[in-house]
Amino acid sequence: MNKVAFYTLGCKVNQYETEAMMELFEKSGYHVVDHEDTADVYVINTCTVTNLGDRKSRQFIRRAKRKNPKSLIAVVGCYAQTAPKEVEAIEGVNVILGTNDRKKIVDYIEKVKEEEAINAVGDIMQIKEFEEMTIGEIKGKTRAYLKIQEGCNQYCSYCIIPYARGPIRSRKIEDIIKEVKRLSEHGFKEIILTGIHVASYGKDLEDRNLLEVIKAVHEVEGIKRIRLSSIEPTIMSEEFVKELSNLPKVCPHFHLSLQSGCNETLKRMNRKYTTEEYKIIVDRLRRSMPDVSITTDIMVGFPGETDEEFEKTLNFVRDINFSQIHVFKYSKRKGTKAAQFSDQVDSKTKNQRSEKLIELARKCSIKYHKKFVGTQREVLFETLSVESPGYYEGLTDNYIRVLCPSKTPLEEKLVSVFIETISEELVVGRLIEMI
Ligand code: SF4
Repeated sequence: MNKVAFYTLGCKVNQYETEAMMELFEKSGYHVVDHEDTADVYVINTCTVTNLGDRKSRQFIRRAKRKNPKSLIAVVGCYAQTAPKEVEAIEGVNVILGTNDRKKIVDYIEKVKEEEAINAVGDIMQIKEFEEMTIGEIKGKTRAYLKIQEGCNQYCSYCIIPYARGPIRSRKIEDIIKEVKRLSEHGFKEIILTGIHVASYGKDLEDRNLLEVIKAVHEVEGIKRIRLSSIEPTIMSEEFVKELSNLPKVCPHFHLSLQSGCNETLKRMNRKYTTEEYKIIVDRLRRSMPDVSITTDIMVGFPGETDEEFEKTLNFVRDINFSQIHVFKYSKRKGTKAAQFSDQVDSKTKNQRSEKLIELARKCSIKYHKKFVGTQREVLFETLSVESPGYYEGLTDNYIRVLCPSKTPLEEKLVSVFIETISEELVVGRLIEMI
């Protein structure tokens, strides 16, 4: 039996697509092995969101070829889509696919056995249909990422993604629900709706919107939780929040992408909201769902970000009190508007700002967790902890990772837990009852 190994870089959407490609190979008789093993085919699902993503993508292509010089190498995903010539120049690459047509990956691998190399990257801007790829046999049985949307039309000035993923395409509700039912039958309890720009769902379809998707998933028996992955804050209108708060399976956790807490920076980033509007949205969510967790992404060192502008971001973070922040440094991406801005920030300043913000984020996170000590919360347990033997770990609906000692296995179980202590970032609980 032929062996295939995958290496996936980047976001949850890429991970979802890797799972879907794995199933395609398995259906064609391949055996999926770990990327550290020797395989006949290596698929590198690349990322281009930062320079580091590009570099790592290239490293893994070379590493795979070294592992088995006779193997076939397929390079797919965002880096392959935006820089196919660079990928072509790497010795040993056999198939190059971008962010479309990944459904045909097995066919391309079979075809390339007869040819030297295939570059199948097309013009992503011309793609108007969502490429339907499904997952049904995925490993793990608690939380499943479900891709409902592709592409982005926002063109934030720093971001390469619209060029890598193309225009927005929404998946049909019927196809989404078919997949949710299959996941539920496999025992999954939590669905995380994901995409490149989830808030745009339905804008390319007639009479469809994200709320309808959430409501339809809500109806599926066996699904206990629905979570939204990163989402544009502006979708959280009064009406939308009201509807969400009436759907008990919707987790009180929203990852509202902020990027900067300074209006001048947001404007240069071409983000479509101000900090004042963002604050109104957070307050609205907190009024409807008092325990809600607000998590976010913040970029430091965007071109022209002065000390004063960065200080505004720190103050805004203190004001909002996020429960978790993903901090990342601006990375110049060729082809984007911001790459041409003259006042690029040096890497020393970016590092200092990043450290400062990470420290503040840590404090905010502890503050949020402390609010729940002495309260009861439902936890969906996933695994036995590697770092704390005898403890199981899982997530509350409001995105607190909880450790709990137990002699009976807790994997895949939804359990009511009393939150006892928090030490550093670890939250420890005691079992109350199975739900
Ligand atoms: S919304 Fe902005 S940051 Fe997000 S994918 Fe689209 S262009 Fe990139």
